[in-house]
Amino acid sequence: MMKSGGSRLEQILRSGRQAITAEIGPPKHSSPEKIIGHTNMLRGFVDAANITDCQSAVVRMSSISAAVHIMGSGIEPVIQITCRDRNRIAIQSDLLGAYSLGVRNVLCLSGDHQIFGNHPTAKNVYDIDSIQLIHLTRRMRDERLFFSGEQIREHEPRFFIGAVANPFADPFAYQVDRLEKKIDAGAEFIQTQCIYDLERFTRFMEMCVERGIHERAFILAGVTPLKSWRAAKYMQDCVPGITVPEKIILRLKNAEDPKAEGISVCTEQIKFIRENIKGLSGFHIMAISWEEVVPEIIKGAGLYPRQ
Ligand SMILES: Cc1cc2nc3c(=O)[nH]c(=O)nc-3n(C[C@H](O)[C@H](O)[C@H](O)COP(=O)(O)OP(=O)(O)OC[C@H]3O[C@@H](n4cnc5c(N)ncnc54)[C@H](O)[C@@H]3O)c2cc1C
Repeated sequence: MMKSGGSRLEQILRSGRQAITAEIGPPKHSSPEKIIGHTNMLRGFVDAANITDCQSAVVRMSSISAAVHIMGSGIEPVIQITCRDRNRIAIQSDLLGAYSLGVRNVLCLSGDHQIFGNHPTAKNVYDIDSIQLIHLTRRMRDERLFFSGEQIREHEPRFFIGAVANPFADPFAYQVDRLEKKIDAGAEFIQTQCIYDLERFTRFMEMCVERGIHERAFILAGVTPLKSWRAAKYMQDCVPGITVPEKIILRLKNAEDPKAEGISVCTEQIKFIRENIKGLSGFHIMAISWEEVVPEIIKGAGLYPRQ
């Protein structure tokens, strides 16, 4: 049964079809031109596009404004909302506003700490965390209540609610517990952190299937193509909670055309996951600052044409 007020992503997933989503990073300026360009490239290849919320704690165009631009160009947005920069009043206000503009999907996150971004001395908020944000969004929809308990008398926002999982953060088993808590709070779709360590992801999904987690939420496997061995090394050394196996770094280092090799690695990963790992409902492609390669990856992985 559909819970949102008309999310196409929800409709696809509830019908049992595999969904493909891609990430679009809003620009560090006020022109929508680039986002619209990326949307035009992705149209017909993805079922929805996630709009990040100042990822890596770097100032960018707001995810809600960017969502309006991509909707205007024909792709359904998933807005990402973090708890880093807004308290519960501002978040609820943004949820009402985003819904009024036609947004139907939201991905609830705690968010990268500001220390990693371009304003490391900024004051953070973290009034609530990702699990409370999920709970708040679900309660606004299903119980027509604000966080305070006050009633929403009419026009409650009816979002399809998502969250992230990180199978590569430690301690390992705790990541499955945390995912389950997010689902208990109301998360209905899950997008994972970028997968490179297929062995560990296999174990993570086995634990999810054993616990029936895949039957309570739609899990989309997150993949990110790498442009060069330096990008791979950066992911491995500088991004907490991401593991890039040495064999992938070497493969990119020895490649004549590292970008083409990076695309091959990504399509091979998708094929491996599709053929060997149970419990998944689709893929989330995060081609960070490289959105133009997404159609090639989708075609190469045998995921095109979309049904
Ligand atoms: C697909 C995806 C998209 C993302 N998009 C964005 C974005 O747009 N903007 C942005 O700023 N960041 C983004 N991030 C980064 C994300 O916010 C961080 O990776 C975060 O650490 C994990 O997800 P979360 O926000 O849901 O955190 P949570 O699951 O809420 O947890 C935050 C961290 O704290 C740890 N933690 C939580 N509770 C406890 C506890 N009680 N004891 C010990 N440790 C605890 C968790 O293990 C985790 O490492 C994204 C990540 C992913 C995977």
